[in-house]
Amino acid sequence: MSGIYIHIPFCKQACHYCDFHFSTSLKKKDELINALSKELELRKNEFKHTTIETIYFGGGTPSLLTNEELQFLIDSIYRHYKVTENPEVTLEANPDDLSNDRITELANSSVNRLSIGIQSFFETDLNLMNRAHNAEEAKACLETATKHFANISLDLIYGIPGASNKHWLKNIEIALSYNIPHISSYALTVEPKTALASFIKKGIIDDVDDEQAHEQFHILKEKLEAEGFIHYELSNFGKDGFFSQNNSAYWKGKSYIGIGPSAHSFNGTQRGWNVSNNSKYIEAIQQKKLPIEVETLTLTDQYNEYIMTGLRTIWGVSLENVEKRFGTKFKDYLNEQSEVFINQHLLYIDDGHLRVTKKGQFLSDGIASELFKINLS
Ligand code: SF4
Repeated sequence: MSGIYIHIPFCKQACHYCDFHFSTSLKKKDELINALSKELELRKNEFKHTTIETIYFGGGTPSLLTNEELQFLIDSIYRHYKVTENPEVTLEANPDDLSNDRITELANSSVNRLSIGIQSFFETDLNLMNRAHNAEEAKACLETATKHFANISLDLIYGIPGASNKHWLKNIEIALSYNIPHISSYALTVEPKTALASFIKKGIIDDVDDEQAHEQFHILKEKLEAEGFIHYELSNFGKDGFFSQNNSAYWKGKSYIGIGPSAHSFNGTQRGWNVSNNSKYIEAIQQKKLPIEVETLTLTDQYNEYIMTGLRTIWGVSLENVEKRFGTKFKDYLNEQSEVFINQHLLYIDDGHLRVTKKGQFLSDGIASELFKINLS
């Protein structure tokens, strides 16, 4: 099983916290879409022997593309790759692009899953983050989208400066009132060189409070689990049957091709990343060159990745798998390193799988890094 990720590097405006690759100028949109289709063709042999099960339009803001433009890219995929009968086709969409007409149009297209960038239902939060939509649009698009799509995910951000736990709980309750089967939620992080980092430095916005973010993570977890959501990955909650197939495949180490500027690819042993510049990307593709840098992962790199992603998910780290893939030395090392965290009730072993406890969940990335700082020969 494999997936195709297509990066759409355009946004209407820059959110203050964002450090993804995008441009707010749409001047090169047509050229870029043609280049994406060309890259799909240039890389068709990479997945000659495998079937595409998921297609994911991420960004940036993929909902800035018209249905015709999306279909043009989907047709390119079908032309050059073997696609399973009913692939999961996800479109990341922002509320200000989801008018009633657009949602109806999308419901009649190949897209069968919407991932909507709500982030918050409150004007104060949306303004602080410089989102392009307002609270009314956030609610209105869900009202209509839920009538046309069964498979919807929404994104929410917690740990926003000035947003109390009560305010956060209200956000979750509003989200739940739409009966959405999947929620992805991330702590607001201050990335260097973003407007948010600069506003905090100048004292215009309060710094994020890690303690409060931690509390809000637990509020989220408790509330969603009580409503029947399964916390299947650190930042992802889904009702049974509604986990993101695309992202689950990443976390299980399956291969994928990333198309477009800044997109990443993985084939099991090599990781690649495309140039993060729209003009350079278009130019290279027009010359039939792939603007990609590739790194071959050592066994240690592969082990580290498995530990990092495994601990973030409900599936955990299979000790048998570690031994099979990496050898007894790695398994013994893992057992030794994890002992201290097991004693602190941050990790536990169940059915041959190492997992984080509820207490350890918010700390899973830090714990993982303690387990993989190794240099085995
Ligand atoms: S819409 Fe998404 S990709 Fe675009 S600036 Fe905002 S967070 Fe970044």
